[in-house]
Amino acid sequence: MENRAEAILKFMSSSNNHILCEFCDGTTETKHISKTYKREGREFTFDNVQVELCPKCGEIYWDGMILRQMEAEIKQKINNLDAGD
Ligand SMILES: [Zn+2]
Repeated sequence: MENRAEAILKFMSSSNNHILCEFCDGTTETKHISKTYKREGREFTFDNVQVELCPKCGEIYWDGMILRQMEAEIKQKINNLDAGD
């Protein structure tokens, strides 16, 4: 069993909006990737985050709602961890 991060947060999203890439005119594809944030000396890893990825140039387009949701989850985790004092 590995424990690669202090907090691994599961994440699901169901939107499916392909984007016309602003750099190469490619059409993005929906992918699921991992994203790690470092906050207050801790690491917060989100697995299975849905993004739009341009297959031609590799540009990643993040969903603003997902980003806000991840920020909110991190704040909540930090609050929970600090509450133990
Ligand atoms: Zn592109």
